[in-house]
Amino acid sequence: MQRRNTSQRKIIYDILKSTDVHPTADWIYEKVRKYIPNISLGTVYRNLKVLKEEGYILEISDGKQSRFDARTDDHLHFKCDLCNNVYDIEPSDINLQLDTSSLEKKGFKVCRYDIEFYGICRKCNKEREVEKDN
Ligand SMILES: [Zn+2]
Ligand SMILES: [Zn+2]
Repeated sequence: MQRRNTSQRKIIYDILKSTDVHPTADWIYEKVRKYIPNISLGTVYRNLKVLKEEGYILEISDGKQSRFDARTDDHLHFKCDLCNNVYDIEPSDINLQLDTSSLEKKGFKVCRYDIEFYGICRKCNKEREVEKDN
């Protein structure tokens, strides 16, 4: 029993690890079914929860939908308003400098922060330009 759970979890983790689209649980479920045809969506959710608790994956929620990310190092996300895809942003690409000293003065000890970018992704931008040219 224990071993079966572990291998299910490994398959789910490997699927998530192999993509950078930051998929939803439904997306992962569709892929997992190719390997474990009788798996349920609930089992996929449960395994994602355990992977998250163990620190292997991140859950990104926009309030409506949860997406999952096997990349857990320091990085940020860009969400496209048109196609809803989520892209990884390298902290070194945005030259982000936050000054939290006045917060500290007000008694807030900042331990981490969360910044998300929203806009139009490269792919959608290109498609809009193509439409303009026609
Ligand atoms: Zn897009
Ligand atoms: Zn990411």
